[in-house]
Amino acid sequence: MIKFLDLYSQYLSIKKEIDLAIEHSIKTTSFVGGDLVKKFEDKFANYLKVSFCVGCANGTDALEIAIESLDLEKGSEIIVPANSFVATSEAVTRSGHKVVFADIDPKTLSISSKAVEKLISKKTKAIIAVHLFGNPADMDKLKEITNNNSIYLIEDCSQAHGAEFQGMKIGSIGHIATFSFYPGKNLGAYGDGGCIVTNSKRLSEKCRLIANHGRFSKYDHLIEGRNSRLDSLQAAILTVKLNYLDEWLEKRRSLAQEYLKRLSVVADKDLILPYNPRKSRHVFHLFVIQINNREKLMSYLKKNDIQFGIHYPISLPELKAYSYLNQYSYTPIANKISKNILSLPIGEHLNIKDVEFVSQKIIEFFK
Ligand SMILES: *Cc1c(COP(=O)(O)O)cnc(C)c1O
Repeated sequence: MIKFLDLYSQYLSIKKEIDLAIEHSIKTTSFVGGDLVKKFEDKFANYLKVSFCVGCANGTDALEIAIESLDLEKGSEIIVPANSFVATSEAVTRSGHKVVFADIDPKTLSISSKAVEKLISKKTKAIIAVHLFGNPADMDKLKEITNNNSIYLIEDCSQAHGAEFQGMKIGSIGHIATFSFYPGKNLGAYGDGGCIVTNSKRLSEKCRLIANHGRFSKYDHLIEGRNSRLDSLQAAILTVKLNYLDEWLEKRRSLAQEYLKRLSVVADKDLILPYNPRKSRHVFHLFVIQINNREKLMSYLKKNDIQFGIHYPISLPELKAYSYLNQYSYTPIANKISKNILSLPIGEHLNIKDVEFVSQKIIEFFK
C-alpha cells in the first residue's frame, strides 16, 4: 500500500525528541501560551526572516484575525482564488467582508494576476494570495497590483511552509501572512494550531490583542477580541519538527523531480504534470496532476493500493455555500480543472522506489 500520508512513521523517526518535548511541556504546566509558545514563535519568525509571529488556534482563525487586524470598512471586497480550501473565503465572510473570486492560472493553478486586475473595484481592499499545493503564487505581479491600488496583500501560506519566491520565504512578502499547523500540513502539530506573521509591529500587536480577548494585561481589555491561542504542547512539538522541516521539504522536492522525470514519457494533453518553477522553491505539499479520465484512473489506483486525494473536487464559487454570490461564471478555469485534478502520494514517508512504482503504474495505465 502506498500511503498518501503517514504521520505515525514520521513520529517514530523523531520519537525520542517529541516524547521529551511533550513531557517537558506538561511539567511547565503553562498549557496555553507561555514560554514554549514564545520560543516557537521566535524560532518560526527567524526561519521565515520576518519580524513578528503570533501563534493562534488554527489556520482559519489566523486568516480571520489577520483580516480583522487590517481594520477595513465593513463590506469591503477581498479577492481570493477560486481554487483553495474553503477556509480562505470563509474567513473573508466571517470578518464581515465580501468574497470576490478570481479565476486561476491554467499553468500554475494559482490565482491569476490577470483575473485579479480585472476584478479590482473601488471597494477592493485586499487580495489573498494562496500558495496552493506548496507552489508560491505570482507575488511579483500581485505586489505590483496591491501597491498600485494601495490595498493589502495577504498571504495564505497554509500549504507552503518553507516555500520561496525568488529567494524570499513566502510569508515575508505580503503585508501579513497566515499559516496552519493542522497535522497533515508540511509542518503539522498533533492537533490544531496556526499563526500569523508580519513585519509590521502595529499589525502584530493588533493580532495578538484580537487573539487573546483584546487584553493587554490579565483583566484589562482594550477591545473585544476572541480566544484563539496556541497550546504550549503544540508549540513544543512544532519546535522539534521545525528542525526537520527543510530536510523533509528537500525529500518532497526530490520525489517530485522523480515523478516529473518518470511521468514525462506519458505527459501530453491527457496528462498534465504540475508546474515546476525554476526561480522559486515549490515545496510540493501536494503533487497535483491533471487528467481527463479521472474516474478511471481513480479506480485503477485503488485497485493497485495507491492512495490519492482530490484538492479540491468543487471550485469555491460552485459550492452551495457560495451560490448566493453567483460568481461561478467568472471562474471557468477553476471550475473545469476541479474535475481533472488528482493528487498523487508524496511526503517524507515515501522513497524513490515508491515513486518509481506509482509512476510505472500510471505509465501502464496510459498504455
Ligand atoms: C489548511 C488550510 C487552511 C486552514 O487551516 P486550519 O488550520 O485547518 O484551520 C487555510 N487555507 C489553506 C489553503 C489550507 O490548506
